[in-house]
Amino acid sequence: MELLDDSVVPEHAQPVKQQAREFATEEIEPVAEEYFRSGEYPWDVLEAGMDAGLVAQDIGEEYGGRGFDLQQLLAIAEELYRADAGIGLTLMLASFGAEILEDHGTEQQKEEFLRPVAENDQITGLAVSEPESGSDLAGMRTTATKEGDEYVLNGEKYWIGNGVEADWVTLYAKTGDNEQNRYGNYSLFIVPTDTAGYEAEHIPEKMAMRASKQAHITFDDCRIPVENRIGAEGSGFYILAEFFNHGRIAVGGHGLGLAAAAIEAAWSFVHDREAFGRDISEFQSVQHTLAEMRTEFEAARALNWRAARKVENREQSGFWAAMAKTKSTETATMCAEQGMQLHGGRSILTDRRIARVYRDVRVPVIYEGANEVQRNLIYSQSPT
Ligand SMILES: Cc1cc2nc3c(=O)[nH]c(=O)nc-3n(C[C@H](O)[C@H](O)[C@H](O)COP(=O)(O)OP(=O)(O)OC[C@H]3O[C@@H](n4cnc5c(N)ncnc54)[C@H](O)[C@@H]3O)c2cc1C
Repeated sequence: MELLDDSVVPEHAQPVKQQAREFATEEIEPVAEEYFRSGEYPWDVLEAGMDAGLVAQDIGEEYGGRGFDLQQLLAIAEELYRADAGIGLTLMLASFGAEILEDHGTEQQKEEFLRPVAENDQITGLAVSEPESGSDLAGMRTTATKEGDEYVLNGEKYWIGNGVEADWVTLYAKTGDNEQNRYGNYSLFIVPTDTAGYEAEHIPEKMAMRASKQAHITFDDCRIPVENRIGAEGSGFYILAEFFNHGRIAVGGHGLGLAAAAIEAAWSFVHDREAFGRDISEFQSVQHTLAEMRTEFEAARALNWRAARKVENREQSGFWAAMAKTKSTETATMCAEQGMQLHGGRSILTDRRIARVYRDVRVPVIYEGANEVQRNLIYSQSPT
């Protein structure tokens, strides 16, 4: 069964999709269950992904990357997540936020911080969410106070991918206090993780995407030079909003990969299991369930790829990205739920692929903006 076929993938993205498929088959699938069980950081798979030229390669060629565009990134996301979402997240997060630096940083910042990520000598992360605020981007409390030629950082961040492992993170922090324009109060900074006053520890064990690691970071009078600010003071919210439009297309790809995994697992199970003297795939209700899963999957995939083109062309990006993210990630939850039902009691055996998928699908409906927030965006940005 070939669910992630090439028919919706533009020609220029097909070679890297094939490369990601081969990598996922050889390097991710054989170790996925073990990493899920142990919850360890998959350094060896990350390094293999770097050797294969699949990590951090959306960074432009002039800075040492392969310059993948959004459609190439989506193609990779589908393939990696079909094999395993936790490992897929680790590979895709190694350069999370670096695109912001590429689009808005100075040449000096890019040479110092972006190039080592593109060349796979360093990894990074994006620190936005906090213990008390995730959805409300204009409600974050971590502050960056200017003192002479430095910014002094104080506050906490939570859920930050690679917060422990990264060499530097892109930090979103409050630089203003204007109640009339809450959105203009935030700025973005490059923060090397070895700066005094930066402390990070892993958050407690997760039930999903266990081969990825997130951190609780505290900033305690952490001082960084003014030159580490990305873009103008007060531009952070707007830069982030634009960045998330790209990210949400890729997160749609996370959902599509997971949905494909759920359908494959369910399809193969029902053709290999008997009840009442026949194959359970012969029951019409089972066939209808699978038909529904496939239909929803194809609808989500068509939307997601259409949205990728829209975002790439900057046509109502917020609207299309939010729709793609919502539809694809919720198709994944639906397919996983139905796939579990079709597996009967065996669905809850922890070594089953469907059980891993069932847990992992809980994440993309939340990260990069919970789907309720996406619905707010779809409504408010609907072209009229
Ligand atoms: C595995 C994982 C990895 C992550 N990685 C990162 C990372 O690398 N960097 C980073 O900065 N963050 C990261 N996050 C955080 C993620 O972006 C937030 O969890 C997400 O934005 C939701 O924020 P919250 O958890 O604080 O939920 P809250 O904001 O507390 O919201 C809780 C719930 O309230 C409802 N809700 C909230 N606001 C609204 C609204 N306006 N309208 C309707 N309903 C609403 C929704 O149901 C929502 O799920 C990660 C999260 C996970 C789970």
